[in-house]
Amino acid sequence: QKLLDDIRRANRIFTWGDHLPNIILRFSDANLSSVLLNRLTECSIRQPSPIQMQSIPFMTERRNVLASAPTGSGKTLAFALPIIEEISGLKQQAEYSSSSFSKLLAIVLEPTRELAAQTYSEFLKYCSGTSITVANFSGEETDIEHADILVSTPNRIVFHLDKIDTSALRWLIVDESDRLFEVIEGQEKCFRNQLATIYKACDAKCTRVAFFSATFSHEVEKWCKENIDNIGMVCVGERNS
Ligand code: ADP
Ligand code: MG
Repeated sequence: QKLLDDIRRANRIFTWGDHLPNIILRFSDANLSSVLLNRLTECSIRQPSPIQMQSIPFMTERRNVLASAPTGSGKTLAFALPIIEEISGLKQQAEYSSSSFSKLLAIVLEPTRELAAQTYSEFLKYCSGTSITVANFSGEETDIEHADILVSTPNRIVFHLDKIDTSALRWLIVDESDRLFEVIEGQEKCFRNQLATIYKACDAKCTRVAFFSATFSHEVEKWCKENIDNIGMVCVGERNS
């Protein structure tokens, strides 16, 4: 434990909340399937980055999460790996019991279409070898009916909300959450309103939410503490803003 605390400190990982899970030092400590571990090796991803060390165990324990870490520090895999692992497990179970699992299992929100496209291709890369289907809802023409994971900007989701079944949703990820929390004066369709609409629609008991951003915001922290149960918080680097 002391060793892990020292490693947390050395990597400037600040964690708070109730019942904090230990950090992982290797991907193989995270209970990831061999398919996913091999995929990481093939992509030359060898060791978890600080944000991944803490957020992967949070998400594996199905905790709601508020996470911040600098740009380029590996936030995408920090949420993608536990989601891919969980969903491929669920799909395998469903195949064994020969029931089909055809409901949407994760939504990943991105503030721009460019970021949605990037995150989508990252998911594709690490889902290869699994039966998971990923859709980029912000791209052209997507078959969202058969998607397990939907990557999108908020506006598309809000617009098509009546067609999206969130009853089995396991994860709502809000990436670049500081930007999605912005309020734009006099603008009805600002991200914050869209986010509120989506958040309200994702109200299944099995749904967990995770916020990721580059900067730590006390405002977002306050909102999370007031509105979300059992949230784990992690901040890598400076706790500024
Ligand atoms: P962020 O969202 O925090 O800005 P990204 O998730 O886009 O950062 O990651 C930036 C780059 O780092 C990507 O090219 C990604 O493949 C790479 N990367 C992520 N995790 C690791 C890791 N554990 N080891 C090496 N490279 C990594
Ligand atoms: Mg990112």
